[in-house]
Amino acid sequence: MGGTLTFSMPVDRTRMVSKHFRLGDLLVDSTFPGLALELEPTPVVLGNLERLTQLLDRIVDRFPPSIEILSGYRDERLNDACRAAGLPASVKSLHLVGCAADIKFTNPEVDPEMAFEWMRASAPDLGINEAVYYPKKGFVHVAVINPKNPTPQRILMRT
Ligand SMILES: [Zn+2]
Repeated sequence: MGGTLTFSMPVDRTRMVSKHFRLGDLLVDSTFPGLALELEPTPVVLGNLERLTQLLDRIVDRFPPSIEILSGYRDERLNDACRAAGLPASVKSLHLVGCAADIKFTNPEVDPEMAFEWMRASAPDLGINEAVYYPKKGFVHVAVINPKNPTPQRILMRT
């Protein structure tokens, strides 16, 4: 009798998880692209990413044609690398559970501050738990709530 053969299948990054996004769109990091290629989300993370992409779909539909995701899901290794590089990455970041993404607007006519103000005003309707606008870097951190560990809503602009 042989033992149980166990192996893990890499996730299918080409799978559409929402109207606009493939799973691989959320497994990226603009600072550490190599580490992002090694991300293997758990089923819990996959569920969170699917809720997150519902929110991202709403943002794309409001500010077409697309958004660029600078950083999505991060495992501990990737998040630690971001922290070591001095990036604004918390030890309890919602990126670690697949609930957060850092986004940039690809349409040059979209003013990111105006888009952020729309997110602030629409937060209850959109289910936004976090929206943090970084004007100097021109991106917005957005997050849905983590049902397993709800955190207070945080909507603010960084100076
Ligand atoms: Zn972020």
